[in-house]
Amino acid sequence: MDRRAQILAGLQAIEARIAAACAAAGRSRDEVTLVAVTKTFPAVDVGHLAALGVRDIGENRDQEAAAKTAECARLGLAGLVWHFVGQLQTNKARSVTSYADVLHSVDRLRLVAALDKAADGHGRVVTCLVQVDLEEGRDAGRGGAGPAEVLDVAAAVAAADRLRLGGVMAIAPLGSEPEAAFARMAAVAAQVRAAHPDASMVSAGMSADLEAAVAAGATHLRVGTAILGSRPPLG
Ligand SMILES: *Cc1c(COP(=O)(O)O)cnc(C)c1O
Repeated sequence: MDRRAQILAGLQAIEARIAAACAAAGRSRDEVTLVAVTKTFPAVDVGHLAALGVRDIGENRDQEAAAKTAECARLGLAGLVWHFVGQLQTNKARSVTSYADVLHSVDRLRLVAALDKAADGHGRVVTCLVQVDLEEGRDAGRGGAGPAEVLDVAAAVAAADRLRLGGVMAIAPLGSEPEAAFARMAAVAAQVRAAHPDASMVSAGMSADLEAAVAAGATHLRVGTAILGSRPPLG
């Protein structure tokens, strides 16, 4: 099977899962955006996705994303929406705000200030999601603001000139029930929306747990493996 056919098969399987999850949750398919996470896969795969109608593309490492977005521009791929979903370091603010349209992992005040300044330097406005830490022990290091800090970070994003508060993002902790974790996330998302009515994005759900995320109100699913195949181990 050629690569495009392989990606099409992955997309069709994911579409069927999303449609079933929306139906089970009594939600419309239009409420959910699929973000294809292309980390470790080449720019030509982004081209296949675009040809198959997927415009929202996710990356998790700045160096790889910077190179891939440039390569996609050289390939003439237009109209893509780039989502940065990985952990963000303050010293990468300048780089990520040059190419990313949506940052899913904004989790501390110092980072908000750096992103605002960097986006201003590029003359861009960048949508930010506040990453909510769903770990109960807070030691796994997958990032995120604790439930007590989320509203402060959201307020700082909303007040920043060059940042737009989109909503929240979460990753279900490894080895726990995604339903319980996503229920905590939904409660935090509702608090953020109460303070910022336009902040309606909820980024949650990956290849393994997208059904639970749709049931909990996710608006953006971040799916890699189930569309593109398994990734080589991180080296
Ligand atoms: C890699 C990644 C995903 C996609 O994970 P899959 O299990 O491959 O679907 C989603 N979210 C984040 C933050 C990621 O780093």
